[in-house]
Amino acid sequence: MTEKLAIIGSGPAAWTAAIYAARANLNPVVYEGEPSRAMVPGGQLMFTTEVENYPGFPSGIQGPDLMELLRKQAENFQTRVQAADITSVQFGSHPFLLKSSEGKEVEALAVIIATGAMANWLNLPNEQRLAHSGGGVSACAICDGGLPAYRDKVLAVVGGGDSAIEESLYLTKFASKVILIHRRDSLRASPIMQERAKTNPKIEFKWNSIVTDVLGDKVISGLTLQDTKTKEETTLDCGGLFVAIGHTPNVAFLDDQITLDEKGFIATPTPWRTATSVEGVFAAGDVMDPYFKQAITAAGTGCMSALEAERWITFKGFA
Ligand code: NAP
Repeated sequence: MTEKLAIIGSGPAAWTAAIYAARANLNPVVYEGEPSRAMVPGGQLMFTTEVENYPGFPSGIQGPDLMELLRKQAENFQTRVQAADITSVQFGSHPFLLKSSEGKEVEALAVIIATGAMANWLNLPNEQRLAHSGGGVSACAICDGGLPAYRDKVLAVVGGGDSAIEESLYLTKFASKVILIHRRDSLRASPIMQERAKTNPKIEFKWNSIVTDVLGDKVISGLTLQDTKTKEETTLDCGGLFVAIGHTPNVAFLDDQITLDEKGFIATPTPWRTATSVEGVFAAGDVMDPYFKQAITAAGTGCMSALEAERWITFKGFA
């Protein structure tokens, strides 16, 4: 059997694409992925606690609860869900061929790639433990920074790019002080962002410093820092840590069969479209978005990708 539409991923982009595609009678199949050490079905929101900025939930919603609702909504329209990863693709001939981690092959007329991007972490054991338990460690200030737990605290941000500056500036709304920890003595961020950070009285810089340990049992209490030049170790007391050292889009399984942009995200060359370099293959969510990276923008591009896939399938006379 050749599928009309296969959707790869299980974050807000994938489930929104499935809802739209199912309601358009495309009978989509979603490959939601297998749980692994680094990722679980549902994507990055499964590691988020309170989501306060997804419209429609005036009192906020827990990240995993939001994903469960989106999945259920897709299933209510008979979306079929496979608990497998797509491990390789063949986009050189049509119908497209996808291979799953269960060793199965599936043919599809159209494909939506919504595999997301993974926030990069420092990969310190206590960082990971406290990030997963909601203990004051996060990789998204806009998602978590406004939570009561972070109010009026000294907050640390790691990184030297635009994200680290943007997150630091955002956190100054809530924090008593923001300490930006960077491994070098000059920032990678754009000059205008640097200027904003350097003139903000609530932001302090710790140059030439790396985090070697995250302290605290149930919640973070501080960090161990090492000076990269002198190797001297110091302790920094803080009530939150935001890691902003970039994201890595999940594209390895595509094996260079789709054009990526200069940052490694799937390129969608036409503005306001989700079509990729391969006709019939569309991309949605964080895997194609190096800029906004929000749950609601992922859902929006998921909707766009399903509408575009449906129009392409109809235009081609496949359905
Ligand atoms: P980025 O530009 O790649 O910067 C990552 C930063 O993290 C760098 O300063 C890097 O240090 C540091 N870093 C990387 N690995 C590290 C590690 N293991 N330990 C400590 N530090 C580490 O990523 P980004 O800031 O997320 O930005 C991504 C893209 O989005 C950029 O093109 C950016 O311009 C854009 N963006 C724009 C805006 C805006 O204009 N408002 C906002 C956010 C993002 P080094 O500098 O030493 O390499």
